[in-house]
Amino acid sequence: MADRDGKIWKDGELIDWRDAQVHVLTHTLHYGMGVFEGVRAYKTDKGTAIFRLKEHTQRLFNSAKIFQMKIPFDLETLIEAQRTVVRENKLESCYLRPLVWIGSEKLGISAKGNTIHVAVAAWPWGAYLGEDGLAKGIRVKTSSFTRHHVNVSLVRAKACGYYINSILANQEALADGYDEALLLDTEGYVSEGSGENVFVIKNGKIYTPDLASCLDGITRDAVLTMARDLGIPVIEKRITRDEVYCCDEAFFTGTAAEITPIRELDNRQIGEGKRGPITEKLQSLFFDVVAGKAPQYEHWLTLV
Ligand code: PMP
Repeated sequence: MADRDGKIWKDGELIDWRDAQVHVLTHTLHYGMGVFEGVRAYKTDKGTAIFRLKEHTQRLFNSAKIFQMKIPFDLETLIEAQRTVVRENKLESCYLRPLVWIGSEKLGISAKGNTIHVAVAAWPWGAYLGEDGLAKGIRVKTSSFTRHHVNVSLVRAKACGYYINSILANQEALADGYDEALLLDTEGYVSEGSGENVFVIKNGKIYTPDLASCLDGITRDAVLTMARDLGIPVIEKRITRDEVYCCDEAFFTGTAAEITPIRELDNRQIGEGKRGPITEKLQSLFFDVVAGKAPQYEHWLTLV
């Protein structure tokens, strides 16, 4: 990805894509303490709009706060940086990646005194789990790798190093012929996918794990809001893997994954083995929302 035309915002400046480099002794590269966001912009009739830009940027600041990384820019500046990157790269719809990392002044566990840097890149990115996955659902395997424990990783943060656990789980699922992994928490309850929150539907009610071990997903929050607005009851609670086997519908949510139905878990068909009716309703509303076709949610969109 390094060799492309385009612009990347780095530490307050728009620079050429190929010049957006770091030194090999960058602290974050060695120890994984960095924080980032995944954001999407969509084409709407009024122009390109970023979905829930303020919430994503606020989460970036919260992530940094958790690790005591002082971002040397304010929220407004990073909001503007993201709009600028989409605009300057002339992207109609895209994925955005704001990243905050620790500089290369010194190594060693303590990052005290090192500089903090910020970059924002954006590029076109289609359906993360495939167009087919969005329409027909994906096959998922419960991971042999456990999700974060609350006193090991602080999961309100979206942190670089945490994704080692995600990659292990995803690698295993793909090697075994599945599309994605479902991770359980340290007590064996359902937590989330490698980069997605998870939902199940049973008897017309929507269930999702509470936030003890999973990321407070912004798409998760959008789905909970839309479901409530549609009059569908939503319950946040501990969920067991056999509850997923026996549910009527299941789906993943995430900025990259959007709303992707799950048609199978551990070789057990879920519901009818295809995208279920409530999933379809939420998915279709979600795609209307991001395309600016649902006026009641227009406040979630920021034109670039
Ligand atoms: N969980 C994990 C581990 C993730 O990486 C993501 C993607 N950011 C999510 C959940 C979904 O979060 P969001 O809807 O904010 O993208």
